[in-house]
Amino acid sequence: MVRPSPAMMKKHESTKKCSNCYGYVALDANVCPMCKAKLGKLGRHGMAEQPINWKAYILCVLAWLAFAIYVKFAFF
Ligand SMILES: [Zn+2]
Repeated sequence: MVRPSPAMMKKHESTKKCSNCYGYVALDANVCPMCKAKLGKLGRHGMAEQPINWKAYILCVLAWLAFAIYVKFAFF
């Protein structure tokens, strides 16, 4: 696989790369037209940043909280 050189990256100044499917999408696009992945603003290396998935974040915290409560009541 050939890595794109900085000169090649200059060509795509009006686009960013989808972090999910690596396809080129418009700079201001919030959703990838190819894979429907949510995209953030343009990050380093011309890649789109992944926006924070708050739903998954909160679910993870809740899951750990439930686990902590379970451990507290089951073993102490
Ligand atoms: Zn995509």
